[in-house]
Amino acid sequence: MEWRSLATKGYLSPEEVRRLPALPTWERICQGPVAVIECVQDIPCDPCTTTCKFSAITIGDDITDLPKLDASKCTGCGSCVFGCPGLAIFIVDGSPEGQLGKVSFPHEYLPLPTAGQLVQVVNRAGEVICEGNVEKVLSTKASDKTPVIQVWVPKDLLMEARGIKRL
Ligand code: SF4
Ligand code: SF4
Repeated sequence: MEWRSLATKGYLSPEEVRRLPALPTWERICQGPVAVIECVQDIPCDPCTTTCKFSAITIGDDITDLPKLDASKCTGCGSCVFGCPGLAIFIVDGSPEGQLGKVSFPHEYLPLPTAGQLVQVVNRAGEVICEGNVEKVLSTKASDKTPVIQVWVPKDLLMEARGIKRL
C-alpha cells in the first residue's frame, strides 16, 4: 500500500489516516479512550503487541505486517503508547460530556508542560490547530525518557491533534 504523503512530506494525510488498518470508529471513540495506531511502515517491529495486556493489537506471523487494533478489546490504558519506539500510537477519548475530548501522545521535548497549562496544539504537519488544556503529564519508569501528554481539545479535532508546539 502506498503512503505518498508520509513518504514525501513526513506525515500522514487525512486520506491516509482513513486507510489505517482497523481505525476505531467515531462511535467507539465516543464510548471511551481507545488507541489509534498510526504505524504504516513495513518494518520488523512488534513491541506494541506484547505491551498490550488485552491482546488488542496483533501483527500476525509476518513481523513486518502493519499492526491491527481490535478496538472492542482496547481499554485505552495507554501502555502501548509508552511501548512504541516509533511514537506511532495515540489515545483518543471522545466520551466526556460537552464539546471537548482528550488526546494523549508521546512528547520528547523539554521543558515539559504542566497540568492545567494552556498549550498550542498541532496537527501531524506541525501546524497549530487550536489551544488545549493539559490534563496531565505521564512520566513513569515504563515511559523511559518519553513522557505522554494528555490534552483537552475540541472533539472535532481529536483525529487531527497529534502534539503540542514546543514550549
Ligand atoms: S491502549 Fe491499552 S488496551 Fe488499548 S491497545 Fe494500547 S495497551 Fe492495549
Ligand atoms: S511498536 Fe509502534 S512502530 Fe512498532 S509495530 Fe507497533 S505501532 Fe509500529
